[in-house]
Amino acid sequence: MASPQPRSHVLDIPAYVPGKPPAQRDDLVTYKLSSNENPYPPLPGVVEAAQAAVGAMNRYPDMGNTALYAGLARRLGVPVEHVAAGTGSVALIYQVLTAFCDPGDEVVYAWRSFEAYPIAVTSAGAVSVQVPLLPDGHHDLDAMAAAITDRTKVVMVCTPNNPTGPSVTQTELDAFLGKVPSHVLVVVDEAYLEFVRMPDAVDGIATYRGHENVCLFRTFSKAYGLAGFRVGYAVAPAPIAGALRAVSLPFGVNAVAQVAAIASLDAEAALLERVDDLVAERDRVGAALREVGWQVPEAQGNFFWFALGERTAEFAAACDDAGIVVRPFAGEGCRVTVGETEANDRLVQVAARFV
Ligand SMILES: *Cc1c(COP(=O)(O)O)cnc(C)c1O
Repeated sequence: MASPQPRSHVLDIPAYVPGKPPAQRDDLVTYKLSSNENPYPPLPGVVEAAQAAVGAMNRYPDMGNTALYAGLARRLGVPVEHVAAGTGSVALIYQVLTAFCDPGDEVVYAWRSFEAYPIAVTSAGAVSVQVPLLPDGHHDLDAMAAAITDRTKVVMVCTPNNPTGPSVTQTELDAFLGKVPSHVLVVVDEAYLEFVRMPDAVDGIATYRGHENVCLFRTFSKAYGLAGFRVGYAVAPAPIAGALRAVSLPFGVNAVAQVAAIASLDAEAALLERVDDLVAERDRVGAALREVGWQVPEAQGNFFWFALGERTAEFAAACDDAGIVVRPFAGEGCRVTVGETEANDRLVQVAARFV
């Protein structure tokens, strides 16, 4: 008897491998360094605002995200119509592909990069064109520009790149945008924007203002510490932001998440302080890793990349033993989030044994 069949590409969707939580242990405190989460609790005032909103859960959320859009527009200095929210910026990846790709259209992105890209591209029935990273983990923007064809609809630029860590510079991005045809949409995924400390850093807002085909993706999951609430947003010219809104899941961003995101925006001073502390910790750990002889790629996000090749599983197991859970990419390497000081110190100890 015939059974219902999903569309043919559904069977090709790669599985998302989420970062494992650590196992409880009697002998030592364990830490999760596998999902690039923020080790700090929510910002001051956020839990209180969220708790107050919980009481109205019998009501639908504001489908128009009115207060959130107003807060973001004010904070970023952009028109309200240039903002579109989603349930995490992962949802925005799906939205952009739904809105801009027909089946068979090509999406160019660096590889290895964010693992949600191939999942979303395949789900959309589009075709991934993966351009290898340079050996130091940077995007090869020249090769990405050369990979654009008549079928290309979207290019994703992940900066800083998850999982390797380096960012592109403004000069590199400008040169790249100069080569991309104006009908190809360039998504700049800035999930780790707040952690970037480098000369010639990308100014996303200035970049999108200068280009009709540039869309920024940002998230409350990383620096803002709201990963569990699922709020991300795009900033783009009105026709693009409008298309993202049009294909969004109705009532997607829930009422508590909207309130928590707004309260997080209002706590900007505390946010910047924490981000500075995490960046200082990242740089301390980076120096310690170099001291024990590890050459990790330049880390502009809240994570480090260890190119371990065949020793990836062994390294991940050694981290497990030390009570820290990292994110292995089989046969390639491990991504390790900057977490609590104690966790980071254990990472350095394990890494020292693997030089
Ligand atoms: C974490 C991450 C995101 C955002 O995830 P959401 O929690 O869905 O907002 C987007 N892009 C990259 C590269 C990421 O690492």
